[in-house]
Amino acid sequence: MYKPNQPVKTPGVNYQDIIQEVYQKVNSMEDPGQPASYIPELETVDADNFGVYLTTLDQGAFGVGNCYEAFSIQSIAKVLSLSLAYGILGEHIWNRVGVEPSGTAFNSLIQLDADNGIPRNPFINSGAIVISDILLSNLENPKEDFLAFVRSISKNPAINYSPTIAASEKAVGFRNVALCNFIKSLGNINNDPAEVLDFYFDLCSLEMNCKELSELFLFLANNGVNVFDKSAIVTKSQSKRINALMQTCGFYDESGEFAFKVGLPGKSGVGGGIIAVHPNQYAIAVWSPKLNTKGNSYKGMRFLEEFTTKSQLSIF
Ligand code: GLN
Repeated sequence: MYKPNQPVKTPGVNYQDIIQEVYQKVNSMEDPGQPASYIPELETVDADNFGVYLTTLDQGAFGVGNCYEAFSIQSIAKVLSLSLAYGILGEHIWNRVGVEPSGTAFNSLIQLDADNGIPRNPFINSGAIVISDILLSNLENPKEDFLAFVRSISKNPAINYSPTIAASEKAVGFRNVALCNFIKSLGNINNDPAEVLDFYFDLCSLEMNCKELSELFLFLANNGVNVFDKSAIVTKSQSKRINALMQTCGFYDESGEFAFKVGLPGKSGVGGGIIAVHPNQYAIAVWSPKLNTKGNSYKGMRFLEEFTTKSQLSIF
């Protein structure tokens, strides 16, 4: 349905030209970032990869660079697990996790005690671990059912977990173990922490390329409706709220900066991927593994800043 390199234009804006121009500019910049090293397997990826793919709701699509190479989407998967859990639990989900930016690092433990084990939002690790617990309680075969959900949104049966990445993180994921056990001690994890963490590491290990990622997130540009089969993945109100959370919490303690410089709801992962959504217009995926000090892709942030500046379109 979506063919690469189809002209992608909104009246007055030629996205294709802008992407090409900005890609070249950002690609030639010096990149002070470093790939994530705390998950050993992520360090084996060629850090010079840089891909971008834009898919619009009117079926335009355009990609540059390493946009067909699969990478580990890591925390971007937290938006998908939230979407599935939100659909199941509805507004009750907010009894278990908050909707406030944390202003702390993605793996921080410091607020949990004062907050009685209710993580500030679903996109920091503690929040995503609680969402994983909710899915474990509500899905018959969590790992298979979650993957089926992701595949059904994208109509792409090839999307899969990476057992190598999941095992690599599991071997060293001591902070996440600490987070999960601490939340359990405060009464906000119902299942066995080891099972919750296994599922969490699996969902973080999802792999796909920029084209697949941008297609996958189109439902959030489309009021929660799957563009492929027109089914509702989440309600219109839920889609609005998920976008609001991406806008305010999608980049941890750099969320304000992303809103300020890019002006779109988005979500990053330590694999170097970023997805950004322009409601009613497009989803754009960027991948470059070197991260800035906040754990977000350096070139990815720079690219999106220039992209929305040049296209003069953002949600603001
Ligand atoms: N799996 C990673 C972790 O739990 C995800 C972090 C991220 O992408 N920001 O640390």
